[in-house]
Amino acid sequence: MFEKILIANRGEIALRVICACKDLGIRTVAVYSEADRYSLHVRFADEAVCIGPARSARSYLNIPSVISAAEITNVDAIHPGYGFLSENADFAEVCETSGIAFIGPKPDVLRMMGLKQQARTAMKAHGVPILPGSDGILQDAEHAAGVAGTIGYPLILKASAGGGGRGMRIVRSAEELPALLVQAQQEAEAAFSNGDVYLEKYIERPRHIEFQVLADLHGGVEVLGERECSIQRRHQKLIEEAPSPAVSEDLRQRVSGALKQAFASVGYSNAGTVEFLMDPGGNLYFIEVNARIQVEHPVTEAVTGIDLVKAQLRIAAGERLPDILGGPVTLRGHAVECRINAEHPETFAPSPGRIRALSIPGGVGIRVDTAAYSDGIIPPYYDSLVAKLVSYGSDRTEAIARMLRALDMFVIEGIHTSIPLHQRILADPVFQAAEIDTSYIQRLFAREKLEAVSA
Ligand code: ADP
Repeated sequence: MFEKILIANRGEIALRVICACKDLGIRTVAVYSEADRYSLHVRFADEAVCIGPARSARSYLNIPSVISAAEITNVDAIHPGYGFLSENADFAEVCETSGIAFIGPKPDVLRMMGLKQQARTAMKAHGVPILPGSDGILQDAEHAAGVAGTIGYPLILKASAGGGGRGMRIVRSAEELPALLVQAQQEAEAAFSNGDVYLEKYIERPRHIEFQVLADLHGGVEVLGERECSIQRRHQKLIEEAPSPAVSEDLRQRVSGALKQAFASVGYSNAGTVEFLMDPGGNLYFIEVNARIQVEHPVTEAVTGIDLVKAQLRIAAGERLPDILGGPVTLRGHAVECRINAEHPETFAPSPGRIRALSIPGGVGIRVDTAAYSDGIIPPYYDSLVAKLVSYGSDRTEAIARMLRALDMFVIEGIHTSIPLHQRILADPVFQAAEIDTSYIQRLFAREKLEAVSA
């Protein structure tokens, strides 16, 4: 096992990795930007190195700075968390050539999974169903029109190097296509320095369902069930749960079988998430692989009893999955996660600032992952996640009741947060009946408006 690792991240996920390291007796090195000098990950790591100014391009995304911090502190490995450098194949390669283990898949696999169009092709080749779409990158408007003609509208334009919901455009007719293609390409180029765009069939009101994979360095692959992430705003997740109310044991087994084969064939290692959309007919279609630990991993931990970050460390150190998992994976109970963001609950505008008062809920069935503290600052430079509130119960009803209780007892003063919106969602009979899809929040707002008018 590693003796000392560096965590190339900040916020709650940096603390989450520190927890796993402490549990395994591994020493930790935090890196931080000037804006994060007083952050908890800096306080709780064994050592800390400042890697640059607030802007992430000059600190958390600055490969030479991170690598020199790792070299100065003489670490064995780097855990990248999520976001930042976590799916950067060049970074993984630099780690390897510097003799530092990268806790994630190998650079070539990371490179392939990072280009959604290539991942689509690879999954299709191994029998995983994908949405009808272009076979490769769109060359020009004429090419796009040809593909669109064969698949039919509505369609969605997506950035191959995309993430964070950027570079996507829904196309409802042939007339709109040329202008939206240019917009998507420009947005992709600006955001990812890669203007490659492809077309996919657009599913109306899909559910977003994703499967958790673990793979060791010896060809062993295990699937740890799925998560439902349909509660989204602006194509970004807000609430996740495990298991999905829409996935039967039979479907779970079939998808897991196909994924095990596909992941073994591409030589995947470490943790990964395979995202699917489910159409109203209950069919699942692959959309992308996230080759890292996900924000929403705690719901899977709750229902499987497996510490996924610890598993990542043990895999990277060369241990085998059967030893790590200690027996067959079984799912028990139900878990829900609410992402508590520093944002306005109606407009979703970011709301950074100083937390004036904070009281974190606890009690049976509640877990809170956060780096927030009273009088601490949520800086404007990074993502707006303040805390992940996770509830667990013997079934979905109990998990929801516990979540409502914890939301009620969660006090964050000084900034706007998504707590009021979470309270409305968890109390909504439509959510409680699990009649959810990715348009749920939009429809909730519309229903509330109607009720306000008729009241
Ligand atoms: P990103 O990597 O930018 O987050 P994803 O490919 O993961 O993009 O898609 C994010 C979300 O966008 C999905 O969860 C879903 O809500 C929506 N979406 C993506 N592709 C489609 C599609 N083909 N049809 C309908 N909605 C889609």
